[in-house]
Amino acid sequence: MVSLPPGMAVLERGWLSSNNVVFTQGDAHAVVDTGYRNHVPQTLALIDQALGGDPLHHIVNTHLHSDHAGGNAALQARYPQVRTTIPPGLREAVKAWDDVALSYRPTGQLCDRFVHDDTLTVDGTVRLGPYDWSVLPADGHDADMVMLWCETQGVLISADALWQNGFGVLFPALNGDLGAFAAQDQTLELIEQLAPRLVIPGHGAPFTEVDRALQTARSRLNWLAQDPRRHAQAALKGLLAFTLLDRQHMPHQDVIDLIDHGLMSQPGFKAAFDEAPPQLAQWAVDQLTRVGVARWDGLALQSCA
Ligand SMILES: [Zn+2]
Repeated sequence: MVSLPPGMAVLERGWLSSNNVVFTQGDAHAVVDTGYRNHVPQTLALIDQALGGDPLHHIVNTHLHSDHAGGNAALQARYPQVRTTIPPGLREAVKAWDDVALSYRPTGQLCDRFVHDDTLTVDGTVRLGPYDWSVLPADGHDADMVMLWCETQGVLISADALWQNGFGVLFPALNGDLGAFAAQDQTLELIEQLAPRLVIPGHGAPFTEVDRALQTARSRLNWLAQDPRRHAQAALKGLLAFTLLDRQHMPHQDVIDLIDHGLMSQPGFKAAFDEAPPQLAQWAVDQLTRVGVARWDGLALQSCA
């Protein structure tokens, strides 16, 4: 069990919902990232418990993927005075609720509509609890994502840029921007320079073995960058596994539709494969059942989680 600075709590949530980092001291009670919409009742209860029944004043998002911003709308309804601060890049997309730019439509994921009050300033700071946090760019997984760095405590909130055992899918690469591999490499470089004592990832437990995590992430990135098809295959498996966690049960045609109507709309994804969606669906189903994530009864895919 790693020790967190006073006034902070990490609500570790799993893969469908991102972790929530709650700040319980200082001028404003804040939360960084709010989980997926299916887990909203649990998110509300956990945050209420962490705050001891006090109101939440501030929501901050590292990025707006459905598993990081899916509780925003419900928290805004629960705490009408709450201020919501997002990274600057998707301001217009949120205003217009452009669900393609926000990634929800191409991934088949859902996120209840929320509003924002202001945006973070990249390379600026944000006050969370009793600490100042530097807002750092974290391109790679998402071009608009940020990480939050508290130098005095040596703590990095790394979002999906670095997990204990990898990092998130490089969505810009699926969209055809192969510069995402180099961008992710730069983000890892930045983390190495910061040399955090403790990393709070977007998913999984906080960890202190940062050098080892960086090594794991780098070797995975190099392997993926050698052949974009590897990355597209990993993304297909990851996104199907996420959708299955969300729905628990997917008829064969839904698996094909996720690929055909969602993922294939992304030029980088489409370019990586010669196979038609039904063949890709079969490949992905075989992969998930082989590793025990899912069961296949010949008609539908069933989650094992
Ligand atoms: Zn993400």
